[in-house]
This record gives sequence, C-alpha cells and structure tokens, in this order.
Amino acid sequence: DELVSQIAAGEVVERPASVVRELVDNALDAGARQVTVKLEAGGVRRIVVEDDGAGIPAADLPLALKRHATSKIGNLSELENVATMGFRGEALAAIASVSELSIASRTDSDAHATRLEGRSGELNPSARAVGTTVEVRELFFATPARRKFLKTDATELAHCIEAVRRHALARPQVGFAVWHEGRLVEQWRATASIEQRARDVLGADFVDASRALTLQAGPLSISGRAGSPDSARARSDHQYVYVNGRFVRDKLIAHAARSAYEDVLHGGRQPAYLLHIEIAPERVDVNVHPTKIEVRFRDGREVHQAVRRAIETALAPGRA
Ligand code: ADP
Ligand code: MG
Repeated sequence: DELVSQIAAGEVVERPASVVRELVDNALDAGARQVTVKLEAGGVRRIVVEDDGAGIPAADLPLALKRHATSKIGNLSELENVATMGFRGEALAAIASVSELSIASRTDSDAHATRLEGRSGELNPSARAVGTTVEVRELFFATPARRKFLKTDATELAHCIEAVRRHALARPQVGFAVWHEGRLVEQWRATASIEQRARDVLGADFVDASRALTLQAGPLSISGRAGSPDSARARSDHQYVYVNGRFVRDKLIAHAARSAYEDVLHGGRQPAYLLHIEIAPERVDVNVHPTKIEVRFRDGREVHQAVRRAIETALAPGRA
C-alpha cells in the first residue's frame, strides 16, 4: 500500500506547491475563516498549514492518512453522486508517503488537541485552538530522483504563493497569510467582496487597467475581469479561470480568450483575465485528474462561445 501511495503521489505531488494546494483545499473544505501557510526552504524543508476549521475528531485522525479515506462522502445519495466528487481521500495519503507528515487537530468537543505522527502512527496530546495544523517535512526525502527535479527555493516559494493565490481569488471571505523563513510574505485579509480580493491579490494596477465582464447564457454565467486593451499594465501572466469556485486550466477556455483578444485587438497582446464561471454541475466533469485542475465540459462549444463573447463584450462594448 505504501508503494501504491507513492505511485499515486506522483500524480498529486509534483513539488511543494502541490502540497500547499491540497492542504489549503482541505482547510477550506473544513470551513476555515483563516488559513496560515508557513514555509521553509521554499517548502522543500517544511510546509505548515494551519486553519481554524472544524477539526478532525481524535479517533478519526489515523483514517485521514489512509488512502480513499474521506469524510466528505457522507451518505449513499452523495456516493451515487461520486461522479462529481471523484478522486477522494488521495491527497494526504499521497503526501504522507513522500514526506514526514504530522497532523494536530482539535474539534470544538475536544478538551485538547491530538497530534498524529504519520510515519509511526503515534498519537499524543497537543495544544492548539479548534482547527487543524498539518506539517510536512523533507518532501521527497526518500525519493532523491524526484527531489533533484525541484528548482531553487525562490522558485518553489513563488509556486507555493501562486497556489495560495489561486485559492484566495475564489474565497474572499477567508483570510490568508503566507510566511517564509519567519517572514510574512503575503497577507490577504478576509473581505465580503470578490472585487476587493482581486484588487488585493492581483494588484490595483491590474484591476484598474482591466474591464469588468459579466454574462449570463442559459445554464452558464461568467463574471470577472479582462485586461484592458489599452494598458500595458494589465499583466499577461494573470490568467485565472474558476469553474464553480475551483481553479482550472483549460485549453478550450484559453483558446476562447485568445480568440476574443485577437478579434478585438487583431493580435499582439497576451490576454490577461480573471474568469469565474458558474455552470450546472451535471454539465461539467471534474473527475479528469486527481488534482481536479482539469475539467471536461459536456458542451464545450457552449462554454467556448460564452467565454469569447464575455471577453469581447468587455473589451469592445459597442461590438458584440
Ligand atoms: P479528501 O479531501 O479528498 O477527503 P484528503 O486526503 O485531502 O482527502 O483528506 C482526507 C480527510 O482528512 C478529509 O476527508 C478530512 O476528513 C480530513 N482532513 C484533512 N485535512 C483536514 C483539515 N484541514 N480539517 C479537517 N479535516 C481534514
Ligand atoms: Mg483533500
């Protein structure tokens, strides 16, 4: 099972940022209002993610590290809906198989926290408020070939921050902080407004130099921003797409966005955009990859057209 987990880990854990992505994902699932990420050596030496979510009952702690153990499929009707849940209970087991992992957690009915050492399975009383702390040390320590592929600490840190940024853009109500080597490197305070969060995360420069976009088309709605055609300040590396609140990379959407920019601007500019797409869950399959970063739409054309029209309308309001 250790080997199976290590192989599964190859799919899920590519670098420290993959760990950060999964741990923050779990914190958000647990209803956290504040998520704090602490890193050492770009996350290679140490990653700590602390949340103030619901916590894990002490008796369930060992289960959290078991493959396919998930607390998120609660009953049969949800199980039947497994097509939309998919790849459940993989992440912690995978991470634990390629690192030294421990979890300390406390629910509001516990008198104190309990800490589980992943490797030994040892359980000890611990101290913390309600919520969960997951600590991951020495990523890939037992797989030097994997470790060799990691880049400099600065590069790995940048990827870790990017992983938090992707979550933060979709979850304005949650506060985020990222520390590296004891220094606060990013902080985004909780806000009710997704616009404000975009401003905090992507910078006022980008937001001021971009156009708001919004479109409603049948089972699909799109909101967000498109980098303005007449400003060089709209950074080209800002390409964020969310489907039902989840960050995705999608060739179809990227193509639609590029087409919109080419149509309006006749090429020349790298498109920059932030798209929040809401679509009926049965029209999208999120089960394509364990990290859920890829999706498959039931009607790709419908999504392509909507994205293209939303961006064209924002860039050239008179035209579309
Ligand atoms: P999944 O998120 O798909 O259920 P994971 O391997 O990421 O699988 O996590 C396994 C389980 O551990 C979760 O289902 C949840 O019960 C528990 N868990 C992990 N992280 C947290 C957390 N930060 N707060 C509360 N529960 C957590
Ligand atoms: Mg998870």
